Amino acid sequence: MEIDIRTAEPAQRRLKPKDESKLVFGKTFSDHMFLMDYQVPKGWNNARIRPYQDLHFDPAAMVLHYGQGIFEGLKAYRCRDGRILLFRPEKNWQRFNRSARRMCMPEVDLDAQAKIFETLLRLDVDWIPHSVGSSLYIRPTMIATEPALGVRPAHQYLYFIITGPVAAYYAEGFNPIKIFVSDEFVRAVRGGVGEAKTMANYAASLYAAETAKKNGFTQVLWLDGIEKQYVEEVGTMNIFFRLDDELVTPPLTGSILPGVTRDSVIELARHWGLKVTERLISITEVIDSIRSGNMKEIFGTGTAAVISPVGELSYKNELFRIQDGSVGEWSQKFYDEIVAIQYGEKDDPFAWVRPVSIG
Ligand SMILES: *Cc1c(COP(=O)(O)O)cnc(C)c1O
Repeated sequence: MEIDIRTAEPAQRRLKPKDESKLVFGKTFSDHMFLMDYQVPKGWNNARIRPYQDLHFDPAAMVLHYGQGIFEGLKAYRCRDGRILLFRPEKNWQRFNRSARRMCMPEVDLDAQAKIFETLLRLDVDWIPHSVGSSLYIRPTMIATEPALGVRPAHQYLYFIITGPVAAYYAEGFNPIKIFVSDEFVRAVRGGVGEAKTMANYAASLYAAETAKKNGFTQVLWLDGIEKQYVEEVGTMNIFFRLDDELVTPPLTGSILPGVTRDSVIELARHWGLKVTERLISITEVIDSIRSGNMKEIFGTGTAAVISPVGELSYKNELFRIQDGSVGEWSQKFYDEIVAIQYGEKDDPFAWVRPVSIG
């Protein structure tokens, strides 16, 4: 695969923030983007890097009507010694292909992804911020661009990647969140598309999330779509419970997004000899365990925050505090370890990080 590169002219360069700590997530984008086209039966073609710019497609582009679109989210980290690291990017590339299969979209070869990422990051390496905890967020996206009305898989797609610098998530230390347990709205049902990182899942979550925010909560805790009993995820994160000295997380049964951070927490916990169980956990068990004091910690996991401790939870008009609402010992330990590996500060016994050659 050849990538045609057209670099940004000085006038096309984008404004770099002077103060990295003021970066608002998802508002600043780097100078360049990657694009590649797909047509049936030709396959992927026209791989190119261009200055960051508007996309052009027909108003009948199928993604606009039927939502055939997927994305990923991962970060590039700048180490103190100057290396640039990606954290388990092959997990994101594999998940991208699983999402693609579920949505009847074409897959992208893993070796091609490695080359694409390397080329794009090398070009915009100066956009990877330097301050502690900051990083370059990478958003690979695929959309159906064929201009045609009628519900069926498109014959034409665009794969593009944009990137942008993001500030440290916890500039002022951990910030335990208040979550609202929704027993009215659901995010996904088994058999649906909950396990794919596809756009529709986020559109489906907005109404409940807005309602929760209006009532002073940060995120929604999603229950299963059928019995509204079993915990699935929190906001756009996977969820973990520490019940005494056992870590519990819901199993991947189809409606849950298989998070890379979730997998990393499970592997680390096992490596440390902690007991980890993937099993169904009902909201009744959660509430009972909070009441009895067995619930030591609850936290969400995801690329943006790594670990997001839950301080309070509201269910059926009752508010529950987890311990005293402070940050749990395990939450802190997982956070510290994963972040240290991501920034190349600690041994990486699992070979999770992948250096980007910027030479
Ligand atoms: C992306 C995402 C996650 C977290 O996945 P990571 O790979 O850990 O970032 C969890 N749940 C949902 C719904 C997501 O979209």
